[in-house]
Formats: sequence, structure tokens, C-alpha cells
Amino acid sequence: MKADKVLIIEDEIKLARFIELELKHEGYEVCVSNDGRDGLDMFYNEKPDILLLDLMLPEISGIEVCRRVRKNSKVPIIMITAKGEIMDKVLGLDSGADDYVTKPFAIEELLARMRVALKRVRSFTEDTGVVLKLKNLVIDSAKRIVKVDDEEVELTKREFELLFYLVKNKNIVITRDQILNNVWGYDYIGETNVVDVYIRYLRTKLDDKYNVKYIHTIRGVGYFAKDEE
Ligand code: CA
Repeated sequence: MKADKVLIIEDEIKLARFIELELKHEGYEVCVSNDGRDGLDMFYNEKPDILLLDLMLPEISGIEVCRRVRKNSKVPIIMITAKGEIMDKVLGLDSGADDYVTKPFAIEELLARMRVALKRVRSFTEDTGVVLKLKNLVIDSAKRIVKVDDEEVELTKREFELLFYLVKNKNIVITRDQILNNVWGYDYIGETNVVDVYIRYLRTKLDDKYNVKYIHTIRGVGYFAKDEE
């Protein structure tokens, strides 16, 4: 099997070097950049399988790199943050990052998160070509497009994945934990209400806008996408 290629964008040279050596030792192919602008160039040239991205970078910030990459790539992105940098910035604003580690981190922690992120993106691409329907809503997973009555709905990556997961399991009640494990992709530690927050985003863009009840709440349990009334 071909080795996965990792791009590290990190301006702390020593840390970048340390991660590079550890990842090479684990069998990854590794390239390294030390600022945001060069990192973006390298991303497009090297086409890595996964991106490790420091939050505070010279030239172009990690958040901005993340947004730009996310515009036309589904590559897993793990943010590397310093203690005290508010994670809301990364996850709440939905920059498109898949996960994050906080410095200082154990290399095993990073490796575990990388494996999960790579596995998740792969299981998602297995669904490529699937067209899901819920009432007048259509999800085309290959094109990553959601339409309501032929009108395209703009969703962030996370919103799309949450909706996809709910509709794939439509008419089945899904717990918050199941959603976290399948959409966020790991045992999420921190704000457990992140699911509710994203359900709210979806409802604003779908239920409220089109005046159709797509997503139902089962109090104290979770959510489900209901096909028929
Ligand atoms: Ca930095």
C-alpha cells in the first residue's frame, strides 16, 4: 500500500522537525512548510492525504489556510493549537478542520487522531455516488450538493456531514453520542452541546427557510430525520 503523505505547516521549526521524524518513523511520507503562504503552495503541489496545521502562522494564519484548503478539498485537517487558544475559533466558526491537538501533545495522541481522520474521510468516500432523499430535499454525496426543490443549499463541511448522516439513517433516532462518533469522528471531549449547535444551524438553513420539518428532536435522546409525517 502506498504511504499516506502528510503536510505539516508549523512555524516552530523544532516541533515541525520532531513531528516529521516521528511520522516518517511510522511510515508516512512527510513534507514540511514553516509559513501559511508557502504551506498553501505546497498543499496544491504535493497533494497530501492529510494536513497538520498550526493555528498561529506567519504570512497566512492557520484558520485562513484551513478555509482556503476546504474550499476545494476534503483532505482531513488536524489543527495544532497552543494552550489557551480558544477552540471555538477552530471548531465553532467551522473553519473546516476535522480535529485538533493542543501543544504540548503526545505523539501517540496525534497519530491516533490522524488515523481516525484518515479512516473517516475514506469511509465517507465509500459513499460517493450516493443520492439520498428526504421529502423535497436531495443530497448528492459525490458532488457534495444539497438541494431543496432544485434550489442549492449552501452548507459547511460539518453541516453537510451531519445532514448526510441523519438522512442516511432517516426515520431512526440517533443519539448525540452516535452523531459525535460518526460525524465528528472521535470521542469528543468538551462541549457536548456542539451537536445541538449544528442541528440549529441546519434547521435555520433548511427547516426554517423552507418551512418544512426535516429534523425532529427526541428530548433527552437525540435527533432523527423524518421522511413522512
Ligand atoms: Ca505557531
